[in-house]
Amino acid sequence: MKKYGLIGKILGHSFSQDYFRNKFNVLNLKDHTYENFELKEIEQVSLLLKDDSIGGFNVTIPYKEAIIPYLDGLDGVAKSIGAVNTINRTKEGALIGFNTDQIGFRNSLDGFLNVSGSNKSALILGTGGAAKAVEYVLRDMDFDIQYVSRTSKNGAITYDQLDKERINSTDLIVNATPLGTHPNINDCPSIPYEYLTERQHLYDLVYNPEWTKFLKFGQQNSCPVQNGLKMLQLQAEAAWLIWNA
Ligand code: NAP
Repeated sequence: MKKYGLIGKILGHSFSQDYFRNKFNVLNLKDHTYENFELKEIEQVSLLLKDDSIGGFNVTIPYKEAIIPYLDGLDGVAKSIGAVNTINRTKEGALIGFNTDQIGFRNSLDGFLNVSGSNKSALILGTGGAAKAVEYVLRDMDFDIQYVSRTSKNGAITYDQLDKERINSTDLIVNATPLGTHPNINDCPSIPYEYLTERQHLYDLVYNPEWTKFLKFGQQNSCPVQNGLKMLQLQAEAAWLIWNA
């Protein structure tokens, strides 16, 4: 048997479980399983990780940072980002953490973001683990980054500081908050949508619903828009490659 699973707090009907079970069916991998592991506290993960019949894990909210002390090592990018969403058990039994959110985000920009040259700028809404993966990719692409947060901390500005000039000079706005996620579909980040033009690309990490209020406002103002589904699929595919390397 080849066993894999998802570690998180509240998993319900998770994307990852459906994605991998479907993949195993399509590839006729009858000896592969994928389970959800709902942990009330991160401390419970020690026992789970000791089960060396499980070859790999995905990690989701709220444990992407808290999992790190339980691992034997981190790949360099996961270390820089400070968050892990994929774990691989090596042949020698070591548990190594990776960040495939950044791979998913990076690869999902193909065909969406055609902003070239210098002076590219992005606003990242929210300052959690997903935002850090987005920051890593955008810095690597030479974007100037400005975090927007509910509280001013570590150089972040607050939503009420977003004026017309700031919005108009931005190429990309990434919603890295959970605002707008089902069932709270009427929520959206409080940015001044009225200043958006076709220059601003709006990217929502949220994928459920397909059309968030954030993206609808963008579309109404002629912005190119993209939701988080492609990223989600690409990060899962990147995890699969790591487990099978
Ligand atoms: P998180 O840590 O729970 O939240 C991210 C940040 O959002 C927080 O640090 C906070 O920043 C801001 N925030 C939280 N609640 C808010 C509220 N009510 N109003 C305004 N801002 C709020 O989540 P995460 O793990 O970074 O993930 C963020 C989102 O990305 C989630 O919806 C997640 O499902 C999605 N995601 C998607 C993918 C994908 O593949 N598509 C991958 C990873 C994550 P401040 O305190 O600084 O305001």
